[in-house]
Amino acid sequence: MKRWFKTSLGLTIFGALLIAPFSNSLPTSAQTKISDPIFDIAIAQLHLQLAEVEDEEQEPEPQPELVTESVDCQLEKCIALTFDDGPTSNTYGILKSLKKAGAKATFFAIGLQLRAHPEIAQLVLSQGHELGGHSYDHRKLQYLSRAELERDFSYVSKLMFEATGERPELFRPPFGEYDDLVQEVAQSPLILWSVDPKDWLTRNPDETYERVVQAAKPGAIVVMHDNLASTRFALPRILKTLKSRGYRFVTVSEMIKDLNPNEVYRSGPNGN
Ligand SMILES: [Zn+2]
Repeated sequence: MKRWFKTSLGLTIFGALLIAPFSNSLPTSAQTKISDPIFDIAIAQLHLQLAEVEDEEQEPEPQPELVTESVDCQLEKCIALTFDDGPTSNTYGILKSLKKAGAKATFFAIGLQLRAHPEIAQLVLSQGHELGGHSYDHRKLQYLSRAELERDFSYVSKLMFEATGERPELFRPPFGEYDDLVQEVAQSPLILWSVDPKDWLTRNPDETYERVVQAAKPGAIVVMHDNLASTRFALPRILKTLKSRGYRFVTVSEMIKDLNPNEVYRSGPNGN
């Protein structure tokens, strides 16, 4: 076990003990659904500080090769990694691996988490990634009325704007399920996927890694979850292997130019 990890674990437990009494004294309304945001943010900040300490202990790394707008996914091997259901404190580790690999990705955030972690949403965009909407609380949208859907979309848009100054331009329906009404109210391209390692089901880094690298193809859109530690552990290997096969890691908008708000996308050029 690395020294920084032991330190991280120790400080996290110490921090949790410090914060727990305060967290319990919060009014009940502040604790509903978000699982103690103040607690989560404090822990996330501790992790970030420790991640920085870890960086200081390592050898200086070469500057990552940044993806530029000149990537032509008609000619190059592109792949769009996407991460759903965040942002959470686990997103920090995902961002760190992407940065090391010079990779860009797309995050589909849920409103509840945007409300709990606006600072992480801002970090996602500031590192050149793309942020889309994924509903407020991940319910099956085809059971909502038009008015309920409109409320859901406008609230998530407001939360993202308050967090980042930008509004979502892409939408991924929870569970990949939608109907005509969802598509109409979304007024955004619906982004589904062509590669699904089912990381939420196995929660196993080895299986997530194997399934992604076996199914990867140029033009693929890969769905994963940035709220899962197992996915965070799988990601460095996924990036390394696919990079060695010549892939460029791009956002959905970089891979698919001129996205149409009335379309549903499962892959990019040459993908299937
Ligand atoms: Zn989801």
